[in-house]
Amino acid sequence: MSKKSLSLVVVGHVDHGKSTVIGRLLHDTHSLPQGTIDKVKKIAKETGKPFEYAYLLDAFEEEQQQGITIDTTQIQFQTDNREYVIIDAPGHVEFLKNMISGAANAEAAFLIVDVKKGVEEQTKRHAYMLKLLGIKKVYAIFNKMDLVDYEQARFEAVKADLIDFLTPLNLTVLDFVPVSAFFGENILEQTGIMPWYQGLTLIALLDSIDNDTSLSEQALRFPIQDVYKFDDRRIIAGRIESGILRKGDEIQIFPDGRKTVVESFTTWHETGEKTVAYPGESIGITVRDEFFNNRGEVITHAVTPPLVSNAFLANLFWMGKTPLVKGKRYKIKLATQEVYATVATIEKVLDASTLSQFEDAQVVNINDVAEVVFNLEKTIVFDSFKDFDVTGRFVVIDGFDVSGGGTIAEKREIAEASL
Ligand code: GDP
Repeated sequence: MSKKSLSLVVVGHVDHGKSTVIGRLLHDTHSLPQGTIDKVKKIAKETGKPFEYAYLLDAFEEEQQQGITIDTTQIQFQTDNREYVIIDAPGHVEFLKNMISGAANAEAAFLIVDVKKGVEEQTKRHAYMLKLLGIKKVYAIFNKMDLVDYEQARFEAVKADLIDFLTPLNLTVLDFVPVSAFFGENILEQTGIMPWYQGLTLIALLDSIDNDTSLSEQALRFPIQDVYKFDDRRIIAGRIESGILRKGDEIQIFPDGRKTVVESFTTWHETGEKTVAYPGESIGITVRDEFFNNRGEVITHAVTPPLVSNAFLANLFWMGKTPLVKGKRYKIKLATQEVYATVATIEKVLDASTLSQFEDAQVVNINDVAEVVFNLEKTIVFDSFKDFDVTGRFVVIDGFDVSGGGTIAEKREIAEASL
């Protein structure tokens, strides 16, 4: 297989067919473990239920999890062209949490829409979330075409509705694909029942998506996860989020901005000396100067500093059990940093499904989106989300729950005295 694997997220209003689409993809690409289909068919028969492709996904996940409760599953399948990883989260809280914490990084997204029901509230919220997360390769999959007799008119009407919602958000969908996941129409093959559709099948479309190469071209962002003492050396460990790091590079460690030089890479399983590391790699390095580095600091090249401050303006998506309240204290997790923060102002609140706006609010209710200024209890390192993904987004913890996620719009500053 020539290409790198592609990570994909599938979202959509409940019952619009997310699990059926995934089940179909696994089935049609022969990616299910042997015996799964027979087993699922047998259970369906025994319980008197009709066979559902969605059950394939459940069976697949059950096998992977083996009773352990986990937030997201990574479902793998492959075509002749490359491997795919679908990041499947039970709900959008888990999805957002994983996306923002960097546990999962989706390169492309499928927004599933039941073409008979049309664009619904959750479709809109999910579309907004994809926008908030900066996923640029978004494809709308119009499912259940069989229920509308494969008619072009209905497809076009729903497409127009979706475009009406997305345009003010500045969110573009790269393609609209009519399918029937249930009957397998236009997943791997087209039977010709939709002669008006000239585009690719879902699988051909997947294979045509280019991988994101831009991370290597961006400036270096290497958040420190841990510092280990090993013999006499201190090893700084973490994952390269963007940019390329080489042995001998002059680096700067923020928030202090101390400068030093990369002396060596430590790797666990490679042979030969490692001299360069790319985005996505988890590595350890030693540096020339013995500073006492800590988890949460961010390493960059000296010429491309991040933002360092004790406040920022963010676009926030709130999913808490109780509303976000102006003046209340929350915990923020950003890359490998954790900091307590107070909501200083709520500049604007937006209902993510109707897009109606309110100024100068006191609270942000569940499922609303807002522009919020956070005052932080210490100085941290971050970036504007338009420039960097991982250091530009964060999650908000209320008590013990991940209750919201956000992306940083700009740096703000507060005088130490007012903290
Ligand atoms: P999810 O909640 O989005 O994961 O939805 P499911 O995949 O569980 O599907 C919800 C229901 O819609 C199930 O009863 C499916 O059989 C049905 N369904 C899914 N795709 C299609 C389709 O293409 N055509 C028809 N007629 N029904 C479908």
